[in-house]
Amino acid sequence: MSESLSPSLLTTLVFVFFLLAGLFAQLWLNTRQVRHVAHHRAAVPAPFAGRVTLQAHQKAADYTLAKLRFGLVETLLGTAVLVAWTLLGGLDLLNQLLQMLLSGWSGLSRQIALVAAFALISALIGLPASLYQTFVLEQRYGFNRTPFALWVSDQLKGALLGAGLGLPLLALVLWLMNAAGSAWWLWTWLVWMTFNLVLLVVYPTFIAPLFNRFQPLDDESLRARVTALMARCGFKASGFYVMDGSRRSAHANAYFTGFGAARRVVFFDTLLQQLSPAEVDAVLAHELGHFRRRHIPQRIAAAFVSSLLGLALLGWLSTQVWFYTGLGVTPNLNGTPNDALALLLFLMAAPVFTFFVSPIFSALSRRHEFEADAFAVTHTSGADLGSALLKLYQDNASTLTPDPWYVRFYYSHPPAAERLARLHA
Ligand SMILES: [Zn+2]
Repeated sequence: MSESLSPSLLTTLVFVFFLLAGLFAQLWLNTRQVRHVAHHRAAVPAPFAGRVTLQAHQKAADYTLAKLRFGLVETLLGTAVLVAWTLLGGLDLLNQLLQMLLSGWSGLSRQIALVAAFALISALIGLPASLYQTFVLEQRYGFNRTPFALWVSDQLKGALLGAGLGLPLLALVLWLMNAAGSAWWLWTWLVWMTFNLVLLVVYPTFIAPLFNRFQPLDDESLRARVTALMARCGFKASGFYVMDGSRRSAHANAYFTGFGAARRVVFFDTLLQQLSPAEVDAVLAHELGHFRRRHIPQRIAAAFVSSLLGLALLGWLSTQVWFYTGLGVTPNLNGTPNDALALLLFLMAAPVFTFFVSPIFSALSRRHEFEADAFAVTHTSGADLGSALLKLYQDNASTLTPDPWYVRFYYSHPPAAERLARLHA
């Protein structure tokens, strides 16, 4: 072998290497978590003795194990689908087909059609998993409350919303990629940033109500209580709403959302059913802590920086022939731009590489949770937050005994034992 590796073959090899490394890492983490949870299933861990029943502990273990088995199947299928789209030529085939069938269309319309067809096929492939998760997995552990008709209407609304918002954005981005010269990625970044900021503003008032009913909190004493808490924490009391989360799931949550006049506090009805007023206070104080410590702007800034880096990288990759051929696609030669192909390949390939930096973001997120807890303790009571968290961990059947490596990679929130230990310290 006197010839050196072609850039295209090298791209394939690097992609396969990271794909396999990521697959093995995920299988390894999954196996570790399964062993750890199964090993601790027999007894309630010491810090929780007397506070958690054996029955609840074992339900959490079984639910966690069932989710891990499902996760394993999803990982394997997801990898197979990714390889089918790229190296096995699925995307190339779809593109050739559309170029042929839509030969009378403009280059831009053909590209939009490619992305839309890809999104539709991906959604159909994901449908069985979504059905299984809601109607088998969640159902078996008593969490699912979604009637089938509601599930169908959710999927349809989601698809319409995705098309209504996504297609114009896609058209604009593809047009920029072709017409805005070599700095198109900078323009695209500005468009993407604006789109996200607008979405953040319109989501609570226009999009969330399409899926859930929001009613003003009518419990006078609780409203007085949370208004006082917000004043203590330096927030203007804004709208308090109760969301009918129980229509879909028994899982509970609360969030604080929106900007300026649209700012609102949203409690899931399931949360109000499960927690005492003092515990609701403590959970809200935790959410306010995320705002006071400026976690939200930090996360937004991080997302903007990473999308800028990603788009700059795509700007360069999209001009390299080996980027296409190395990932199983022949670039168009009929004058149709290759921007949609580049976009899809990039969106599919990027997670293969970013998986290995995910522990950094998970660690940052867990640190933010500790900071929000600390904020809550200074404005409410640590004991109330502790009992609220324990109830939520139990009601969500989260395992109390996760594997430490699994936590490092995947946990955006610290495990219960660590969180409660800090509250009591
Ligand atoms: Zn939090």
